[in-house]
Amino acid sequence: MTLQTIYSDQIKKDPVFGQFSFDGHQQVVFCNDEDTGLKAIIGIHNTVLGPALGGTRMWNYKSEWNALNDVLRLSRGMTYKSAITGLNLGGGKAVIIGDAKKQKNDDLMRKFGEFVNSLSGRYITAEDVGMETRDMDIIKEVTPYVTGVSESNGGSGNPSPVTAYGVYMGMKAASKYKFGTDSLEGKKILVQGVGHVGETLVKYITDEGAMVIINDINEDRLQELSKKYDARVVLGNAIYNLDLDIYSPCALGATINDTTIQQLKTKVIAGAANNQLANEIKHARILRDKGIAYAPDFLINAGGIINVFSEIEGYTKEESLRKTENIYNTTLEIFKLSDRENISTHRAAFNIAQNRIDKHKKNKNS
Ligand code: NAD
Repeated sequence: MTLQTIYSDQIKKDPVFGQFSFDGHQQVVFCNDEDTGLKAIIGIHNTVLGPALGGTRMWNYKSEWNALNDVLRLSRGMTYKSAITGLNLGGGKAVIIGDAKKQKNDDLMRKFGEFVNSLSGRYITAEDVGMETRDMDIIKEVTPYVTGVSESNGGSGNPSPVTAYGVYMGMKAASKYKFGTDSLEGKKILVQGVGHVGETLVKYITDEGAMVIINDINEDRLQELSKKYDARVVLGNAIYNLDLDIYSPCALGATINDTTIQQLKTKVIAGAANNQLANEIKHARILRDKGIAYAPDFLINAGGIINVFSEIEGYTKEESLRKTENIYNTTLEIFKLSDRENISTHRAAFNIAQNRIDKHKKNKNS
């Protein structure tokens, strides 16, 4: 479905709060600076459990509507990610519109940091696609409301390896549920997107003896990693016709949509990308009906937020990894709950997260 078709009558009537992806967000901040060329949007979805923590994505969006849609979806996802993970954090996210390779510079980062600072801690940033630990160090020059700062600067470093570890745990749990064993040896696994998280995940599953297929839009990276991990490369949309044991989306969101869901021949889906389901209610239900074991993205990719939260809570790297390892148990519980109540795994995880938020809100108000 294109955004044009989505912005129908409702959007004409309520162009702001009637947004397709608007879901009770508390605050949306548009940041504009002519000197640096910064155009960014910060989305604060919910702060019931704590300050809204979530990364900043720099991406060359096709339109500003796409950027707004992305930040609304991503910030909402963070609310449920932190809630199900048991963290006292709300949900927020930011997007910077532009090509990170060509348009990112220190002045732009500092200016963005000033906007983050103006929110006085309601929103705390970190890395996402297109951002690096070094960028967080620059942002830190102008605001304390930043995590994912380099270890030499007192931070917890790049969260991606911890995210990858959590995804690996979630994948093993999903395999245990679907195949009766959590061993990935001999399993045919496609990793779509071999960036920061994807590469570390490829390493884990290669070490365990999986048959790994990789896909990315960056062909140089594919060549490099194919040699490094002896992985097979499949380009473009041909991936959706492959016979797989496990499909691991680790690029951008909405790769499970009306088109691909008809094609997918996989038994398990477990990946790092945020918002993998284009329509979370409909597509999660179809996956369940098709017998595909879907490990909810916002549950299994929480390693990164666990790691950056250590900068605020003061726990160690070992504790971050231990908390992340627990994703294995939670994922298994979600599969059981989904069977018991005949609901999708997404719905099962979402309900637990929403209950925690509702309970906290009630306690705060009483
Ligand atoms: P990254 O930018 O390092 O890697 C993304 C990779 O995906 C790149 O190699 C890029 O070329 C590739 N890609 C982009 N579009 C693609 C497409 N259409 N088809 C195939 N490949 C494509 O990002 P990352 O930090 O590895 O994050 C990956 C995903 O995981 C993102 O959705 C991110 O939001 C999510 N995530 C990341 C973290 C983290 O700690 N980094 C935490 C939680 C969730």
